[in-house]
Amino acid sequence: MKNLLIGLFSLTLMVSCKQNQENVTDTNIALNTRTSKDLHLDASKGAINTAHSPHVKLKSLNIGDCQWTDGFWADKFKVAEEVMVPYMGKVLKGDTGHALNNFKIAAGLKEGKHQGMNWHDGDFYKWMEAATYVYAINKDEKILEELDRHIETIGKSQQKNGYLQTQTQLKNIEPFSERKYHEMYNSGHLYIAACIYYRVTGKTNFLDIAIKHADNLYSIFQPQPKELSRFGFNQVQIMGLVELYRTTKDKKYLELAEIFINMRGKSKVEPHSTVRYQHVGDMTQERTPLRESDEAVGHAVLALYYYAGAADVYAETGEKALIDALDKIWGNIVDKKMFVTGACGQKHDGGSSNRDFVHEAFTIDYEMHNAHAYNETCANLCNAMFNYRMLGVKGESKHADIMELVLYNSALSGISLKGDTYFYTNPLRRTAGHKMGITDYPDRTPYIPCFCCPPNLVRTIVKSSAWAYSLAENGLAVNLYGGNKLDTKLVDGSNIKLRQETNYPWEGDIKITIDECKAEAFDMILRIPDWAASYKLKVNGNPVNTNSKPGTFAVINRAWKKGDVISLNLPMDVKLLEGNPLIEEVRNQAAIKRGPVVYCLESPDLPIGASILDAYLPVDSKLTPTYKSDILGGVTTISGNVKLRKQSKEGMYRELKSLKWENYNAQFVPYFAWSNRGEAEMSVWLPLILN
Ligand SMILES: [Zn+2]
Repeated sequence: MKNLLIGLFSLTLMVSCKQNQENVTDTNIALNTRTSKDLHLDASKGAINTAHSPHVKLKSLNIGDCQWTDGFWADKFKVAEEVMVPYMGKVLKGDTGHALNNFKIAAGLKEGKHQGMNWHDGDFYKWMEAATYVYAINKDEKILEELDRHIETIGKSQQKNGYLQTQTQLKNIEPFSERKYHEMYNSGHLYIAACIYYRVTGKTNFLDIAIKHADNLYSIFQPQPKELSRFGFNQVQIMGLVELYRTTKDKKYLELAEIFINMRGKSKVEPHSTVRYQHVGDMTQERTPLRESDEAVGHAVLALYYYAGAADVYAETGEKALIDALDKIWGNIVDKKMFVTGACGQKHDGGSSNRDFVHEAFTIDYEMHNAHAYNETCANLCNAMFNYRMLGVKGESKHADIMELVLYNSALSGISLKGDTYFYTNPLRRTAGHKMGITDYPDRTPYIPCFCCPPNLVRTIVKSSAWAYSLAENGLAVNLYGGNKLDTKLVDGSNIKLRQETNYPWEGDIKITIDECKAEAFDMILRIPDWAASYKLKVNGNPVNTNSKPGTFAVINRAWKKGDVISLNLPMDVKLLEGNPLIEEVRNQAAIKRGPVVYCLESPDLPIGASILDAYLPVDSKLTPTYKSDILGGVTTISGNVKLRKQSKEGMYRELKSLKWENYNAQFVPYFAWSNRGEAEMSVWLPLILN
């Protein structure tokens, strides 16, 4: 009886909701049936389209204008093209991944139930986006033919009012009834993937689905209904809506993106029918309005998607309060909550400074556990995405420094060198003695039921060439180093072609040759990484003094001509790093870094039977880098003396007696490449022996 009453109540609620929907729809019929033909589309092809964004200093490069040619990133792109994207596609289209199946079932093309997480649609859109970037480079028409088939299926699964979420449609769940269903996340990834598809191919089939979808979202949230005042959650939709605004020039989408920022921090923090009890307060960045925030809080993926979206909104509105808050949050992350690998998400579970429970999250300042770090691959990638947007609006190289740090370390650690197995979390130490948390795996795994990270990482790898340069007011900024060729237009429309030749990050010599440019003077703007103690910059063999310090952009303004060569030398010394003394976890420990690459010690490089916990690093140990083509796909390793402690270490505490040591010449390998030689122990930080 009770169930019946509840059922009747639900039915009444559903009918009234539907009536509301219909009323809304009545007034917006034209709106929700709009297509790209009703709009004036912007033809710019930026990875994020900031071509006309009024508050952006460094504009985004067009997708495909830069291609990795050889070296580190060219090799990664090749693995992505040949293994990562096709293999992942196979998984997501098959019965294990079941992502395409969900769309087919919703479209009436297949029988079955929804399988996968509530954010599985979004993960499929991310894979489609990755495949689109691959097409942008290799122009393999088979990729487009396949994507067009998927777009057709996705279109068939979309409801007439524009709503499309297979996880709610197939489970008969009322739309926008509980934010845990990740409708915002899926929406955002749909809008982004559709915009990228339009920019790369000129086709509007995917974009039309996104427009109809976003018009439905607008009709639900504008005006903002009180019951949905806290609905934003895992807010990829903010970035997606801004991108859709940039593509369609329809200000409604920008307005809606701002609404999702303005909503936060305005409601009482308590469980609610649309909010599961644990997902409240700082956990979901809803305790403090963003403009009043000065620290990164809560779930690290949710937080960084939100901040990245807010940076996109700032790029269009120029609102000072927004960028001031983002600057403070950025400082809090980089100075007090980010790992040496650029990873974010200090703990699996913990507390915020406001004493809210937080999960997979930023916690309090300097709480940097190594073995228990969460560091979801997505969060690390979102850190890079946030910084790419901040680089655009601020024009400061420190943001590209973080992008680089993430890319070489906590991003790539999420995938095997072969490109077909994944880590979800990226701790800085793994030992047999530490209990693993949820989503920790002893070794990379071919499928993760929560599949958000793999396509996120793969799409980032295949679009990294678009992050390598930005367009300045009168010039070109070099953000990332790697062998590539560039063929693009400066902001004034003039052609520029150049080549970059380097064996970075293993070597620090970078050569940039201009192949074509305008006759008038313009700026070549080179990032001098913050990790470089010094640098040498030359044009055509003649030293150039720009007075720029490491951690800034060096600007060379001159009338460039075909054949001009810029040479940059960055010192690739091996460095020992220590942490701020307030980081309890790394006191009296050191990490090894060379250039942008963080190193680790891994058990395959220790004597059989030795634990990573036995290894101590003498502070005066001579650390020697050597490039080895036969290890881990070709990497520079670092050899150096470590001391292995021989005592047994039972019990919680014990008396420290005369210590026995064994000298051992160990090999350190790049952190991103760990766990490619079987299940292993690993540590980035080693205890120091101070003489
Ligand atoms: Zn993830």
